[in-house]
Amino acid sequence: MIVFIRVLRYCSLLLLFVIGGCYLKDVRWRPVRPARKTTYNVYNLKTTGYCPCKSCCNWKRNWYGRPVIASGPGRGRPKEVGITASGTRAKSGTIAADTSLFPFGTVMYIPGYGYGRVEDRGGAVKGRHIDLFFHTHNEALEWGVQYHKVKVWPPPPK
Ligand SMILES: [Zn+2]
Repeated sequence: MIVFIRVLRYCSLLLLFVIGGCYLKDVRWRPVRPARKTTYNVYNLKTTGYCPCKSCCNWKRNWYGRPVIASGPGRGRPKEVGITASGTRAKSGTIAADTSLFPFGTVMYIPGYGYGRVEDRGGAVKGRHIDLFFHTHNEALEWGVQYHKVKVWPPPPK
């Protein structure tokens, strides 16, 4: 009987870990850091903020409520809200940049924002201008337009 209880206790503990693990997989905070032994360059960049809203990400709902791209070359095409141009889920630390200058995977350190990784693009984000992801429109507005010396680690060669 004692053994049975012990096994039961062990199993429930295991179950707790499994459930907890699945739950945490989505929520877990994975900090962005540059790869080891890589050096950075410093760029003077214009930084702005954006969030997943309609006005920041150029989308609207079509007549039956589906999000579509509001204007530009992809106008009317389905839009997945909260998914970046590289296919990742937008989160704090996601950066939109001109990928001809800073390709996907570039790690940056922006004073006042912290570390981030280029995972997105934007129609208005060209040249020495990056757009920093925030969860709410207010936070994006609060950031406004700031010019910073940004540390840039190019992505590791494939
Ligand atoms: Zn917004």
